[in-house]
Amino acid sequence: MNKKYLAQIKNSNLQKLLLKESNIPIIEDLLDVKIQRLITIKKNKNLDFGNKVCSKEELDEIFPKVKKDVDNFLDSKKSDMPSYGYCQYFNIFKQIKNPIKIYKTFSISKRIKSSINICLFNLLVSSGTNYNSFLESISLKKTRRVDMINNIIHEYDHHIQNKSILKNVFSKQYSFFEEGHAIGVERHLAEFYRKQEDNNAFIYKILNRTISEIKATYMWMCWKLEKPIRKSLLKNMTPIESFEISKILTLGEPTNHAKGNTFFSVYETKYKKQIYKDTIHENFQFK
Ligand SMILES: [Zn+2]
Repeated sequence: MNKKYLAQIKNSNLQKLLLKESNIPIIEDLLDVKIQRLITIKKNKNLDFGNKVCSKEELDEIFPKVKKDVDNFLDSKKSDMPSYGYCQYFNIFKQIKNPIKIYKTFSISKRIKSSINICLFNLLVSSGTNYNSFLESISLKKTRRVDMINNIIHEYDHHIQNKSILKNVFSKQYSFFEEGHAIGVERHLAEFYRKQEDNNAFIYKILNRTISEIKATYMWMCWKLEKPIRKSLLKNMTPIESFEISKILTLGEPTNHAKGNTFFSVYETKYKKQIYKDTIHENFQFK
């Protein structure tokens, strides 16, 4: 674990880098392009989300293929296969692969508290789609094929993070990076599948999500930096955009998902998709 690098990707540092006046016009241009793209997609349709993926066989066919594509994109070919399955109450017990490892983790790490919380949460709530860094396992909600593929991309990226730069750290302090990276990887792989299958459904949700999260972060940044908000960006807000913005009222700031997504979207304009590979291999200087 590289301590210097970890300091760079801490929430506080990334927030400092994001909250710069020079990022405002970049974000405004980004929003213009993405909103225009969404309008075109809505007009052209060509959206096929596929059937609901429900069986173990279907998942066993999809998961390794998606894993391979994410590994190729990030050049992380040595990554092992996490356990995965549909979320259900007692799945957690099936996913415990190595009790000795769990004992060791209990005895050493700062992750104890968060891990116990995650375990209890999973156990009690039968949660939806998520990655459990303690058990190294991915739970997936039964969803339509396209959503399933996008969810696997995102959660598997968390697994790669957990096995590389964020190994043995208390990850809450890095959630800005974690989520921004996972959403960015999801966006790029979704684009890859969209082209491969000529199906806009792959990018429909992630594009909607990105626009709403960037919009919320943009408004918060303008407010913090005392800059005027471009009026045209406030027109015709979709429910998902209004919902994302309303979270600022309760949290006092956008979510780390939203800030991370905006951060990587801004940096992508300069460093292109290479940034996802470089940041996961610690070959990037955050400045
Ligand atoms: Zn995530």
